[in-house]
Amino acid sequence: MIYLDSNATTQIHPRVIEAMMPFLTGYWHNPSSGYRAGGEVKKAVERAREQIASWIGAKPSEIVFTACGTESNNMAIKALAREVGRKHSKVLVSEIEHSAVLRPTEAMAAVGFDVDKVGVDEEGRLDLKAFAAALNPDCPGFASIMWANNETGVVQPIAEAVALAKEAGWFFHTDAIQALGKIPVRVDEVAVDYLSISGHKFHAPKGVGALYIREGAPFEPMTRGGGQENGRRSGTENVPYIVALGEAAVMMQEEAENGGLARVEAMRNKLEDILQAGLGDTPNRVEGNGSREHRTGNVAHVSIEGKVATELLPKLDAAGIQCSAGSACMTGKNQASHVQKAMGYTDERANSSLRLSLSIMTTEEEVVEAARQIIQVIQS
Ligand code: PLP
Repeated sequence: MIYLDSNATTQIHPRVIEAMMPFLTGYWHNPSSGYRAGGEVKKAVERAREQIASWIGAKPSEIVFTACGTESNNMAIKALAREVGRKHSKVLVSEIEHSAVLRPTEAMAAVGFDVDKVGVDEEGRLDLKAFAAALNPDCPGFASIMWANNETGVVQPIAEAVALAKEAGWFFHTDAIQALGKIPVRVDEVAVDYLSISGHKFHAPKGVGALYIREGAPFEPMTRGGGQENGRRSGTENVPYIVALGEAAVMMQEEAENGGLARVEAMRNKLEDILQAGLGDTPNRVEGNGSREHRTGNVAHVSIEGKVATELLPKLDAAGIQCSAGSACMTGKNQASHVQKAMGYTDERANSSLRLSLSIMTTEEEVVEAARQIIQVIQS
């Protein structure tokens, strides 16, 4: 099978498995225990915290480990909800956020918060003018805008949005889950207050994540108990997965430095080029969604004229290609996703879109073979 669904999840990298194994076998002790073995385990957790912090330009004390990206998003949003108060407080999100931001903010709307959604242009980028207009400095609240979109891979103008929010005195959370490991994400360059991380999008296991909380930013724990994570998330730490998260962060930093991410982007471009060349002059023309310039280098998001993506998926699966229709969340529902609706796409174009997402574990041979199979399935 050729795996082209890395925005849904990634395979755990062998290097990451190797790093976490000792903490499933020899070093299985509780990091809060007073004897030496506990101390060693605690050191490993703190090393992982430093690794994550150094990757994103934060202080280790600003990192809290969580069980997933969804938890990180909820944690930040709920902390902010308590800070900005209940009735008449403003919350701003984009129309293209992941459900792990949309659902908790909808829950806030249900209890009286004033939640606004800001649209995107047809390239899938945040409408900065509308965003600026919605930031009322007399009634500060918080904004939650994703760094890169999970469906299209389109990178948002985060630095500009943060500057506008700060000028108006608003707090800012970003779901950076689809940006990390693909493009530079630095909180010392873009001054967000909260940033969500999910391990399984960059070759760590599913079920581990982190939340960056800027020093001094308001926070209230969702769990109280033994006081782990500096009192910010009580519960005995998932040590092997935390170690894996740290190792994956170091690995992705190295990939960025040694040309690994550029290699992924070149493969993505090749995949799109072969599809264009093979289908360009046929009734099943390929149209790229969101410009190449603004997409993370690992995503090809294409509409195939005259085809319904959910009908193509089982055929592609049978041909050995694992990929998604538009977004993993929409698979099986056969309706235009909220992201593509926000981009102004017709149902027809949205329903004909495939998301082919690569990772550092994808090979050039796989890309060439996948393109060949995709063309064959479309033309069959
Ligand atoms: N946010 C975005 C943008 C995502 O792509 C995902 C995963 O699909 C999540 C949040 C949820 O992360 P997790 O699966 O770790 O809960």
